[in-house]
Amino acid sequence: MAEIPFPKRKVSRAIAKEELALLETSYPDAVTALIYRNPFELLVAVILSAQCTDARVNLTTPALFAAYPNPKALASARLPDVERLIQSCGFFRTKAKNIVAAARALSERHAGRVPETREELEALPGVGRKTASVVLSVAFGEAAFAVDTHVFRVAHRLGLTTGTTPLAVERDVTALLPEAQWRHAHHWLILHGRAICKAPTPLCERCPVRSLCPSAPIVAKTKAARANRGAAGAGARRRVRSISKASKA
Ligand code: SF4
Repeated sequence: MAEIPFPKRKVSRAIAKEELALLETSYPDAVTALIYRNPFELLVAVILSAQCTDARVNLTTPALFAAYPNPKALASARLPDVERLIQSCGFFRTKAKNIVAAARALSERHAGRVPETREELEALPGVGRKTASVVLSVAFGEAAFAVDTHVFRVAHRLGLTTGTTPLAVERDVTALLPEAQWRHAHHWLILHGRAICKAPTPLCERCPVRSLCPSAPIVAKTKAARANRGAAGAGARRRVRSISKASKA
């Protein structure tokens, strides 16, 4: 299936702000879909969510946290036992290593607590900028804007950024908003990406931002091209079938 190219230029600052205001109105109560009871559980859930859906993580974590309810317990876990509990999450060997190592670091360096600074979070095994941003913003209410695959895609489609790295996207989007909205904007873009601005085929006809979005005409063109290719392919298959029937007759 042909990829939908991103717009080559950013929209004006005024349009960008209007787009974000519309998303805020559309997703006013946006929060993380991950289920957690404390910062430790959130940290582990976010590490597990790499290349895995939040729904799958939510199915996995109850048994994991029942077996290892705190950093001290997880720090002394046997890796094969942890792997078995999280194996449906993908990359489970690496993730098991990381969550056990992170739990050890929490126990040894932070008295079993999740640290509240970016520097300390990013020093934990398996924790990069995105994971640290989610923990800072969701668990501690800090101004941080995490860029995951949905945020990256939707921000590009809306023309909020042309950045080629998550950090560049983060800088472009946060420059459009007051700090108090950064953590909410992350959820607006994720929810929009999951529900409407989907990766292979965005549902532009249902999109509240359509009239402003520079990708709407690009998506329409790409869908038309896909439909034409589909029709041409079906015609070719029909022709092959009729030639083969004729040659058997
Ligand atoms: S109009 Fe289409 S491409 Fe633009 S944000 Fe909406 S769903 Fe995505």
